[in-house]
Amino acid sequence: ATPTALMVGTGRGAQLGILIKGPEVLESTRRVDTVVLDKTGTVTTGRMTLQEVHVAEGTDERQVLRLAGALEHASEHPVARAVAAGAEMGVPPLERSREWGRVGELPGVERFENVPGRGVRGYVAGHEVAVGRLFGELPQELARAKEGAERSGRTAVVVGWDGVARGVLAVADAVKGSSAEAVRELRALGLTPVLLTGDNRAVAEAVADAVGVDEVIAEVLPEDKVDVVRRLQAEGRTVAMVGDGVNDAAALATADLGLAMGTGTDAAIEAGDLTLVRGDLRVAADAIRLSRRTLATIK
Ligand code: ADP
Ligand code: MG
Repeated sequence: ATPTALMVGTGRGAQLGILIKGPEVLESTRRVDTVVLDKTGTVTTGRMTLQEVHVAEGTDERQVLRLAGALEHASEHPVARAVAAGAEMGVPPLERSREWGRVGELPGVERFENVPGRGVRGYVAGHEVAVGRLFGELPQELARAKEGAERSGRTAVVVGWDGVARGVLAVADAVKGSSAEAVRELRALGLTPVLLTGDNRAVAEAVADAVGVDEVIAEVLPEDKVDVVRRLQAEGRTVAMVGDGVNDAAALATADLGLAMGTGTDAAIEAGDLTLVRGDLRVAADAIRLSRRTLATIK
């Protein structure tokens, strides 16, 4: 009867939009008490749009957009896509020039370098350009613009060239409509949700507030996400992890139960034990409910 019950569980999973690697996976959900949620692309849609352009005194807004857009064109990061699309297609009226901030065709990039969890670097139009969190202390007006954007839940990145920070771009990502309900369902199952992200703390807390998560672990480099999972396990917690990115793959593989968003990267899907086909976080709660019920049938 045991294998049959597990097969039934697997079949019901498929109906709910849950792909299960193997029936034995259900077993590992039994003791899960903590659910670690990646922010970008898991709790939020991950489809970011460029919303704000701030520049230092004496810097041309279009030049900031042009150089940042060119560099980000070479990156696949959600922030990069928003910046490149904003530069090419237009952003809301710029603060200083009051004009639509479209810069049109973007210059080419040489010696492009991706710095995981931090940003991008390369040469554009004769300048050594960097975008992300690659600059130290900022001039006061830029620091203020960055903090303002982050307090409202937007991700802010610094644009600079030739070693000088010259602008701040803020991108907005929307919390998925289903995320707050998903968190309530996970809590109702007795699980403690934890938000985990490489993004800034203020942004992470704004998102956590919006969906009802109390525990926030922010500013974690991609290679350190797996250590967060290990640390929680060392505290005696049994951890489920939900993620979508390349930077979540190791954490998904290490967690007691890895749930990959079907809308995410192949690396995440390969590393997970389960795939939530539609990328809806509520299905994570369905998955845990289903496996508990399946296991109860077996007992
Ligand atoms: P998350 O954990 O939310 O998926 P990441 O680890 O991918 O985030 O990135 C963390 C932070 O690093 C971003 O919020 C951003 O500040 C910076 N960053 C990463 N890649 C880029 C990029 N291509 N352009 C600008 N900033 C970037
Ligand atoms: Mg993500």
